[in-house]
Amino acid sequence: MASWLVAHPQLTPRPVRVASLASPPLARLAAGRAGGRGLTAGVRCQTQAGDMDKHYMRRCVELARKATGHTSPNPMVGCVIVRDGRVVGEGFHPKAGQPHAEVFALRDAGDLAQNSTAYVSLEPCNHYGRTPPCTEALINAKVKEVVVGMTDPNPIVASKGIEKLRGAGIDVRVGVEEALCRELNEAYIHRMHTGKAFATLRATLSMNGIVTNQLGKGAEESGEYYSQLIKEYDGVIISSNLARMSTLPLSHEIDANQPLYIIIAHGEGPVLHIPFLRAENAHKAIVFADSPVTVEPAGVEVAVPREMELGSILHLLAQRGLCSVLVDFREAGEGFISFLSDFQEKKLVQKVVVEMMPVWLASEGFTNLGFGGQSFPLKNVERREVNGCLLLEGYV
Ligand SMILES: [Zn+2]
Repeated sequence: MASWLVAHPQLTPRPVRVASLASPPLARLAAGRAGGRGLTAGVRCQTQAGDMDKHYMRRCVELARKATGHTSPNPMVGCVIVRDGRVVGEGFHPKAGQPHAEVFALRDAGDLAQNSTAYVSLEPCNHYGRTPPCTEALINAKVKEVVVGMTDPNPIVASKGIEKLRGAGIDVRVGVEEALCRELNEAYIHRMHTGKAFATLRATLSMNGIVTNQLGKGAEESGEYYSQLIKEYDGVIISSNLARMSTLPLSHEIDANQPLYIIIAHGEGPVLHIPFLRAENAHKAIVFADSPVTVEPAGVEVAVPREMELGSILHLLAQRGLCSVLVDFREAGEGFISFLSDFQEKKLVQKVVVEMMPVWLASEGFTNLGFGGQSFPLKNVERREVNGCLLLEGYV
């Protein structure tokens, strides 16, 4: 997800699916010339093979995204099996604990997997987890070649899967559409490298630069940016003010896995009442408070850390298997702002999403996004219009 706008389905159209993906003309052409021996033919073949590699890898990423919001702590992975220039099997990892993408794609291909090329967006695993290693499945299926989008940053996989396949006589190529594959799993990669959940800060501004607690018109509806954003994140960090006063962030996307609510409570009285959290969903919320507090409904976990510190909370969330969290800035009071204040110098927030509404606000007082130790330019900034609002996002 090097550029969120490029790869996130809610912000750009999905890659155009070739009308007949099973046998694109270019694939047939490349396959037909594969035996060419002349220098020119060879060069041409390589170029076409390269294009087809990218095409199939993009399809892997497209398949992987079908499980958005469901795979943590695992990565999203897609796999395509191609034989004689034709797609004979496809699969993706649907959920932690379920088989990996390669297993579904090999099952789909059946006997046709023999002598095929397997495309996988992430290095196949080589360890016994909740499922047997995918390297074994690929070797047993007698695939001829494996094309890998990126190596797995997980230390128990890192390059061991590739070595195992090569050791079994399978040709392995690595790094096709690598930027796209990395972007797909930027939260997973971040968690592997830092031990913390990947965090995105989101806020809405008026045209005169006032932070507002509203969302843009329709933003929460199915198919709209906020609903899609919530679907993508494993957790949402909100202030106790928002939890007390408003409905909790929800995704209205089909098959959305609703996030864990991480509620930051500063100076709450003895009781924090969360009116829109139903008792049966109490396990979907955790309150971090600076002093002991009783939460209604009962059953919500409460933690009173020695210090309300974003870094240690992101670490704790990663330990619980969350790869990503959205920090929603609505109803942020002084305590919430100080909680975020060193986000940049400590590299605690990776991305910022700002929605700009075409309104002039005179009533909401002060602009309170002015925290952070220093000024800095955001990277890879993208923008688009959503329902009359401007949506800007960039990397810290
Ligand atoms: Zn696997």
